[in-house]
Amino acid sequence: MALKLPNSADECVYFTRRVIGDGKVMAWVFRNPCPKCGKALMGKPVDKKTGKVSIRAKEYVCPACGYRAEKQAYEDTLTANVMYTCPSCKNSGEVQVPFKRKKVQGVDVLRVQCQKCNANIDITKKMKEIGKKGEGDKTDDE
Ligand SMILES: [Zn+2]
Ligand SMILES: [Zn+2]
Repeated sequence: MALKLPNSADECVYFTRRVIGDGKVMAWVFRNPCPKCGKALMGKPVDKKTGKVSIRAKEYVCPACGYRAEKQAYEDTLTANVMYTCPSCKNSGEVQVPFKRKKVQGVDVLRVQCQKCNANIDITKKMKEIGKKGEGDKTDDE
């Protein structure tokens, strides 16, 4: 399997690189086209006053037809692409999983499993990693 890499973070609703123990992970989620008109990619609404994208908005809008989707419902339809080097067995792999976070010890994580040793590889929400700044993170978690 060869995952399609994003050309820029603008294509993604989520993009992160992490070092996890002796392993590392890169995860990204592409924006999907509007389910109504299919003409444009859904994105966060743009603030009319500032002209900037409201990344904290709780919804996505289609810039072409104005269709709105609730943030969680929209993100649940997306697929996360994950490239990893397993912290347990050092195997490198690529997986695709539904972009749905689960609670692990009270923390929201995107969990994938190493295809070789089945170890869990958890990508935590950035806000829970106090004092750690992920490079190139593009999330609205903080
Ligand atoms: Zn549309
Ligand atoms: Zn492994």
